[in-house]
Amino acid sequence: MNAIKKITDYLMSDKNGEDRGSGLMIMTRFVVGIFMLLMLGFSFLTSVRGYYPQNIIFIIATVVLALALIGSFYIKYADVILLIFMVTAYVVSFLIAPFFGWRNSSHIFLFVALMIFWYDSRKSIKIKLLYSAVTTAFICALELSTRPGEAKISTIGFDYRFMLSLNTIGFCACVCTVAYLLCRDNVNDERKLILYNEKLKHMAGIDPLTGLMNRRQIGEKFEALARETELSITIAMGDIDFFKNVNDTRGHDCGDYVLKTLAGMFEEFMKDKGYVSRWGGEEFVFVFSGYNGDDAYPMMESLRQKIEKSTFDFFGHTFNITMTFGMEEYSARFGTEEAIKKADEKLYIGKENGRNQVVF
Ligand code: GH3
Ligand code: MG
Ligand code: MG
Repeated sequence: MNAIKKITDYLMSDKNGEDRGSGLMIMTRFVVGIFMLLMLGFSFLTSVRGYYPQNIIFIIATVVLALALIGSFYIKYADVILLIFMVTAYVVSFLIAPFFGWRNSSHIFLFVALMIFWYDSRKSIKIKLLYSAVTTAFICALELSTRPGEAKISTIGFDYRFMLSLNTIGFCACVCTVAYLLCRDNVNDERKLILYNEKLKHMAGIDPLTGLMNRRQIGEKFEALARETELSITIAMGDIDFFKNVNDTRGHDCGDYVLKTLAGMFEEFMKDKGYVSRWGGEEFVFVFSGYNGDDAYPMMESLRQKIEKSTFDFFGHTFNITMTFGMEEYSARFGTEEAIKKADEKLYIGKENGRNQVVF
């Protein structure tokens, strides 16, 4: 049971990008596999029964399809595998139909390829119509040129009947597989796209340098918190003192290192208190949930002291930095934007008063 599940999982493995539906590749892989088994069966039968050189065509088709099947686990684009499948079905049909009769030829599998072709949402409708027309014309031409039902081998003999049955079983297996995967994939692809959208949404709210929330996301979090909680909320805005000097004297990379190190420190500090974000440049905004200004002030003061005492080490060069903070308690009467504006104003008072302080 376990082995069957492992094999199924492997066959269903999805090498497509996370922004693509997985159905096309899995569908193509199964159909190629079924068609390959059919060609293997035909190779065996024609070799044993002495249909030479027809058996060579089936053997070559089996090898080509086996390579396509293996390729489907490594190649990212299902189109390539589908193309190999279609070309093989065309060539085999064309070479085999006059001998074994058109009902025994592989042209029937071109309908399966057509279905998969239409399933690919990235192909234009023009291409799909064109391909449908080519397939129809090819099958009509094959049918007319070989005269339906007529074959060079006896149509009442075992070989003909056996091949006909195998062909029907293979075709039926393909149609059932495609139909099953179509139903299953609707659900799976939808789930996959929902997850991908969530990831995109998450990325849109994250600052790539520090990994902290960005201005947009903290704004939304603050708004939501203000709407939902009756508890106190306090805002703090912090700005690194003389940060330009760090960049100018030690390089931009060192500046980035300071921002990242501080971000880690802030995240740890705010873990059980609320949220922290990179507001922009070298400014950070803290949202204390369930703390009024008097509660949050000593916390910010201890954070300020911790920063002041921290030694930063960038490739052996050690240095210290300080930060200035402005704090404001949120009031429903003035709203979130006003709270941030007031915290910002207090931050600048702190800057004017000599920096390295918390102003509340
Ligand atoms: P003050 O004490 O008045 O805040 O002085 P300051 O030098 O920190 O202020 P200023 O606004 O003049 O400089 C901010 C600097 O922050 C300028 C800019 O180059 C730097 N900065 C902004 N974003 C980044 C960043 O992502 N990486 C690095 N390395 N530097 C940044
Ligand atoms: Mg600054
Ligand atoms: Mg600044």
